[in-house]
Order: sequence, then C-alpha cells, then structure tokens
Amino acid sequence: MGVEGVGFYEIAQHSPDRPAVLAPGVPVTYGELHGEVNRLSNALSGLGLVPGDALATVLGNRPEFLTVLMAAMQSGLYLVPVSRHLTAPEIGYVLADSGAKAVVTESACAAAVTGAAAEAGIPAESRVSVDLAEGYRSMAGLCAAGSAAPPDKRRMGSVMLYTSGTTGLPKGVRRPLFDISPERLFDIIRQSLGGRLGLEPGDEVHLAIAPLYHSAPCAHAMLALTLGHSVVVASRFQPEQALELIQRHGVTNAFMVPTMFHRMLALPEDARARYDLSSLRQVYHSAAPVPVETKQRMMDWWGPVLYEYYGSTESGPVVVATPHDWLARPGTVGRAVDGVQVKILDPAGDELPPGETGLIYASGQPGFEYHGDPEKTASTMCGDFYTPGDLGHLDEDGWLYMSDRRADLIISGGVNIYPAEIEAALLQHPAVADVAVIGVPDEDWGQSVVALVEPADGTVPGDALAADLLAHCGPRLARLKHPRRLEFRASLPRTPSGKLSRGRVRDTYLAEQQ
Ligand code: ATP
Repeated sequence: MGVEGVGFYEIAQHSPDRPAVLAPGVPVTYGELHGEVNRLSNALSGLGLVPGDALATVLGNRPEFLTVLMAAMQSGLYLVPVSRHLTAPEIGYVLADSGAKAVVTESACAAAVTGAAAEAGIPAESRVSVDLAEGYRSMAGLCAAGSAAPPDKRRMGSVMLYTSGTTGLPKGVRRPLFDISPERLFDIIRQSLGGRLGLEPGDEVHLAIAPLYHSAPCAHAMLALTLGHSVVVASRFQPEQALELIQRHGVTNAFMVPTMFHRMLALPEDARARYDLSSLRQVYHSAAPVPVETKQRMMDWWGPVLYEYYGSTESGPVVVATPHDWLARPGTVGRAVDGVQVKILDPAGDELPPGETGLIYASGQPGFEYHGDPEKTASTMCGDFYTPGDLGHLDEDGWLYMSDRRADLIISGGVNIYPAEIEAALLQHPAVADVAVIGVPDEDWGQSVVALVEPADGTVPGDALAADLLAHCGPRLARLKHPRRLEFRASLPRTPSGKLSRGRVRDTYLAEQQ
C-alpha cells in the first residue's frame, strides 16, 4: 500500500487506512490510531495532567503502548516507560523518583504496580489498565468517554527513560520540553534519528520485538510512526516466532539485541532454513557487544543487513556502522554521525591518539539531564562532550572500537583485561549458550578472571567440559586473559534488553564464596 504524506499526522489525514500497528489479530490503521491518541490525550487532561507532568507505563510490548506514547508526545508530558520485569519496590522507586501523576499498566503487572502507585501518591482515579485489571480504570473506557478531536493545543512531549541500572540505581534521563508542536518534534526526529540511521519514509514494516520501555526500541517505534511505517508489535522474543513474524509480515526493518542473534543462531539448521527472510533490509543493533563471529554468521545467513550503532539512553546513537562498513572493518561499532565528534580521553582528561584505549566521549548531546541529579549530569561531561563510561579506541580513520564498560574492566597484575573479549572467545564454542566474565579480588594479582558459563542445551557441564573450554581459550587469548576459574550456572542474569547484569553476577559469585 502506498503512503501519502510524511509524518504521523499527515499520514493519518491522507492515508488513514494505512496499517499503523500490526499485532496478531488487531491491525490498527493510522486513522484509528490518531483518533485513539486524541481520545487518550483528552482523557489525560481530564485526569488533571498538564504539560510537564510525568505519565508512567508498566506494560509489556503491546499496541496500547504506542497509543500512550503518541498521546504523551502531543500532550507535553514526560512518558516514563517502566520495565515490567521490575519488582514492586523497584517500580515504586521509579514512580516516586519521576513524580509520575498517572500510571498505565496491564493485569499481568497490576499486583506489583498497585502498592507502588499508592506509595508514590498516584491517586486511584489515575491508575489505568489497558485490559481489565481489578482496581484500575479501563483505558478503553477512558478513551471512549473522550473526544477524538485533536486537543486545543498540541505540545511536544518527551520520554524520560530510566537506564537499565546495570551499573547502579536506575537513572531518569530526560531532555527539556520545548514549546514546539509535536509535528515539529517529529520532523526533528525524522531528520536527526532517521537521518543518522538511514531510515526513510515509505512503505516499510518495522518489527518492534525488543522491550519498548528501553530507549532504542522505543525510539525506533516512534520513528517508524513518524515515517509512515507499519509496526509489528511482538509481545516477546522467541527465536523461531521472530523468524515467522518477519516472513508473515514482510518485515523490512527491526531493532534487535545481540542475545537475540545468539538464540536464533542456536536454532536447528532446518528451522532456520524454513523461513523466507528476504524482505529484511535494515536490522539495527546496539546495547551490548556482539562478538565478531556472531555478527559474521548472522550476515552469512541474513545477508548484509546488520546496522550497528553505539550510544546510550543519554546520547542516542553517536556512531553508526553500515553492514559494508563493518565487513570492511570487522569489530568496529561505527564512525561518528553528522554533527557529532568522538574523542578518547585518558584519566587526566587529555586526548589520546588513534590506537590508544581510553574513555569514549562524544559531543552533540542536546541538553540531556539526569532527573534531579545535576551533579551526576556534570560528572559525565567534559566541556561539551559526554561519556557513557565505556572504554575504547579510534583508528586512524575515526572508526570506533569499544573494549568494555569502564566499571567492568579487570585489572590483573597491572594489565587491563576486557571481559567482553574473553566472553566473545568462549561464545565461539558450541557448548556455550551464554557466558559472564568477571574480575574477583586476588591477593597476588589484584584481580583474577572468572568465567561463569551457561551450557548449551544437550551438553553436560563438568570438569571435562571446563577443561575443553579452557583449552579452547588457548590459541584465542593471551595467557593472562585465560580464566583462572571456570564454573557452570543454569542461567545468567541478563536484562530483557540483552545486557549482562555483571554487577549482579559478581555480587552473587562473591557471596557464594563466603
Ligand atoms: P546503567 O548505566 O544503568 O547500567 P546502561 O548504561 O546500560 O544503564 P543504556 O543507555 O541502556 O544504559 O546503555 C548504554 C550502554 O550500552 C553503553 O554505554 C554501552 O556500554 C552499551 N552499548 C551501546 N551500544 C553498544 C554497541 N554497539 N556495542 C557494545 N556495547 C554497546
């Protein structure tokens, strides 16, 4: 189906029948979504929410998330998407810290949200459920009572995202609200984010399969709706189902995380060969390191469609690598996008030359702040440059290679060791489903390397496999990087966005040793 117009509102007006959301059994057109977004905006102002207020969601991936997102974006609100995997106290922390005035959730999360909302002072009439959770107002009922006419004045909203907390308490990252229209904001998003990533308006299908409460998946979904793409909302990631969805809907672009690649590659050959994935043109990935071999295998399978970018909730994508860039320089995470400069600094703040590893800094972050923590904001800045706290180096031509997060660096015998490198080597072994490498205190060496391995289905963990895995490291890693200990675990804690919670792995391991 062709698309007339550019931008969410124009498409809703000129191509109202174009599918906006493709969820199993519920196609929603741009015209319908626009009407529902207006109804929700009007209902939210009926609840007393005014521009500048925060509206939280605790939702799985479902079409209603997009309605709430687009309503917040035109009502001048901060949308605070909270992970549905958090515990009640963790949800309570985010609701209270963000000052949320209302929350939208679903039955599956209601038990955790109810107490958290009460503690954060969200009144009962402002607790809304997209299904019929007991004790909550129904979003459908609220919308049905509201008018489908656009609100009197549309004002730009924003998203306040709490970072995953893999390195400490979650931090609310937000950008100031400007007094501009959402049309103008969507133009800016199309030009800046769409331009940086090479995504354009047109008859495309986006697969939203990573958790939408994370920055990159949320930004991709919103970008898709401002480009007129149809969005397939997958409620959860299951490797074979992902392939089936791509084939069924003719998905052209998606955002995925490296753990998804590992899981799809682990499918039996015949399951992988069963699906026609030729519609795919751009599969973006970010958020966590992907071993070179894994990415190469994915491109051998899917063709040159993997676009990598590096950045953070705070910065958005600051460097990008097209598939061809990466194939010419395997391992790079990309080169600075237009308007951004990347540099590497040593601990004293001096710039390092190409080839030398230090802290990665990038310019061009339009005024983000940590909500309620100006000191933290200042501590991540050096002049106009911001650091996500990662270590890496640039090559002579400005291509960035990321080593690891500074907090995860292992220093053993005075030598810097990057867990990601050891994990990538171990992941090449077919008996390894997942792996976490940590540094633990060591009297002789300061720290020593420990590997915790989740064995692949059908393998028998034990001394023989441990010896085999250590032998596998032999030719691949310098001796000092070989794990001093290698143990097996049934599973490893990863966030739903695929990040390894290395702090949790380390704390649990150290507690077990006592
Ligand atoms: P917290 O600080 O609470 O732990 P977080 O830093 O994980 O949260 P995000 O903004 O979700 O918050 O993630 C940004 C981080 O993801 C980067 O700092 C980097 O460590 C990692 N990352 C992003 N892109 C890539 C990439 N292409 N390759 C490897 N790692 C990446």
